[in-house]
Amino acid sequence: MKPLVVITGASSGIGAATAKTLSEAGHPLLLVSRRLERMESLKLPNSLARSVDVLDVKSFAEAVSEAETLYGPVDLLVNNAGYMNLEHTAQQSPQEWQKQFEVNCIGLLNCTSVIFPEMINRKTGTIVNIGSTAGRNIYENHTAYNGTKYAVKAMSESLRREASPHNVRVIMVSPGLVDSELTNGTSNTQILEAREIYRESIGGALQGDDIARGILFAYQQPQSLCVWELVMAPTKQLT
Ligand code: NDP
Repeated sequence: MKPLVVITGASSGIGAATAKTLSEAGHPLLLVSRRLERMESLKLPNSLARSVDVLDVKSFAEAVSEAETLYGPVDLLVNNAGYMNLEHTAQQSPQEWQKQFEVNCIGLLNCTSVIFPEMINRKTGTIVNIGSTAGRNIYENHTAYNGTKYAVKAMSESLRREASPHNVRVIMVSPGLVDSELTNGTSNTQILEAREIYRESIGGALQGDDIARGILFAYQQPQSLCVWELVMAPTKQLT
């Protein structure tokens, strides 16, 4: 059997698509997110789904330990769980800034902290962090979200430097516009309508499967080759 892959935020969007793609490639999976039934409904073979909040390191570590007992050590961690709430900063509550930084940044570090030390000990392994073109460009009403994704970029670059002497790869995959449930976090209908107009103007968004193929491509390169960053956006998306 191929080595174990852990995917956070596997209940929808890019995470669920990545689960299917990695499963088709023959990998056993640990799927984590808060909505267990959504992950179980994927019905993937050799997969364990656990309801885990990425802010709860202890529960994440327990799920990893359970999966490793079944399938052996984690070879790939995909830090994908994310949350977005688009709003003008003057209208956004501090709780909403905090939630975006907690899930997108602290959650990523939490999950990394459980798996990275063992990869260093084993002198092999790969971590894929899902960034965004919002980690490269500034968009309207994205202040906190932009901040989280620039932070993901900085942390990924730094983690790559820490990992590389140990033959461990850190890869950043930065999607542009993708159809998913990420917009559900935003309640401002004007902002959502403007996003939809933009989406139509560029001929539509990518799908989760498109990003999953990129993740698989980067992961399947030899361990001696690290794709530092993969930016994947609709052809007509400029920034
Ligand atoms: P979705 O909203 O469809 O998926 C987000 C996933 O994150 C869900 O599975 C959700 O599961 C999980 N999640 C959220 N909060 C937590 C938490 N506290 N603990 C555990 N899991 C959590 O959006 P996408 O698929 O689009 O997002 C995936 C990643 O891609 C995110 O990092 C996002 O920022 C990034 N991205 C998305 C783009 C887009 O246009 N869609 C563009 C660029 C990057 P649950 O609610 O069950 O916990």
